[in-house]
Amino acid sequence: MSPEPTIADVAVCVYCASRPVPQQHLDLAAEVGRGIAERGWTLVSGGGRVSMMGEVARAARRGGGRTVGVIPRALVEHEVADTEADELLVVETMRERKGLMDAHASAFLALPGGIGTCEELFEVWTSRYIGMHAKPVVLLDPEGHYEGLLNWLEELAGTGFASRHSLEALIVATDVREALDACAP
Ligand code: AMP
Repeated sequence: MSPEPTIADVAVCVYCASRPVPQQHLDLAAEVGRGIAERGWTLVSGGGRVSMMGEVARAARRGGGRTVGVIPRALVEHEVADTEADELLVVETMRERKGLMDAHASAFLALPGGIGTCEELFEVWTSRYIGMHAKPVVLLDPEGHYEGLLNWLEELAGTGFASRHSLEALIVATDVREALDACAP
């Protein structure tokens, strides 16, 4: 029988914006980083210092949390590699980045972001609903950033293009505590 997961085994892979965004989103990222550290968990991130990605990692470290960043060599300058990370993994391709982020994570948490965030979220969400992994996939959306997307996905369930089961594989939370509770094993 495999042992019960310990606090040290919990690693939350956070997907979020890498572009300049309004302050309230940076504050949200910092709150998530603090929350991860308070629980004694590890943060897995895209390994950049920019925007929300940087905020979440800095806040996690300020709180004493461990941070792992995975960044493609081609983005080391553009996304300003997070050299303060406890572990900074520099890879060659985006696919390797996503693979290593997955491998280090026990849960996935998407915050407000753009198309890169959506791409990452959809991959772990779709692979969860077809049963390729059983890690929680959580979307934290306190201000309706994803409202249009979620409404459209509901329409897809109505017309049969998406199953109810697939939509239920994504946990949608509106505050940080609820989102992190959903990431717990
Ligand atoms: P964005 O939401 O567009 O600001 O992007 C958020 C993060 O997703 C950035 O760190 C991007 O480098 C990353 N990203 C964009 N496309 C991909 C992809 N295909 N695979 C993995 N990460 C990606």
